[in-house]
Amino acid sequence: MKICFFGGTFNPVHNGHVRLLENAKEYFGFDKIIVIPTNIPPHKEVVFSVSDDDRLNMCKLAFDGMAEVSDYEIRENTISYTINTMHHFKEIYPDDEFYFLMGSDMLFMFKKWKNYKELISLISVVVASREDNELESLENKKAELEIDGARIYIIKAEPYVVSSSMIRNMIKSGKKDFSCYLPERVVEYILDKKLYLE
Ligand code: ATP
Repeated sequence: MKICFFGGTFNPVHNGHVRLLENAKEYFGFDKIIVIPTNIPPHKEVVFSVSDDDRLNMCKLAFDGMAEVSDYEIRENTISYTINTMHHFKEIYPDDEFYFLMGSDMLFMFKKWKNYKELISLISVVVASREDNELESLENKKAELEIDGARIYIIKAEPYVVSSSMIRNMIKSGKKDFSCYLPERVVEYILDKKLYLE
């Protein structure tokens, strides 16, 4: 079975995430997709202004019918290292093929991930551009990581330029048009619970 994992802060989950997953699914026809909101991400400074449950709930609304949403990293309640998470899922799915989905920003810093060499033996990486004109640097990074034995697949779709921080800033500054960047049910959830206003 081909299993795709997709980790992130999802603060909030947005259409860039959904599109990345849809494109990867179309490309690879995964048998199972597991979305894993992080607890404390090792590679970015984050102070969450919404609860873990809110992030989980928004992921469930955004990926309904497409993916399972796992609370594993949140329940572990510690720094979320992908290597530890993959070991956990290898115990559940010992004989299955693991794919890990990420945007280009993560691939560019992938060598810094904890136990990177061991990690690349456990997973194949599926990556997409986040900015225009990034494909060449992405191909170069792929070639560099392949020397270490990494298996990297680049999805060559037009980038969808959006980030959670951009959305948080739009909501905070009262810009109503943030809603076009999010699944409708996530917009309703954010408005209903008055999230990200401060
Ligand atoms: P923030 O703006 O708060 O840093 P973010 O938008 O980067 O957040 P994350 O939840 O940290 O969102 O991202 C999770 C994963 O999804 C990462 O691998 C990231 O590269 C990828 N990703 C996020 N947005 C996009 C996008 N627009 N296109 C492709 N990949 C994306």
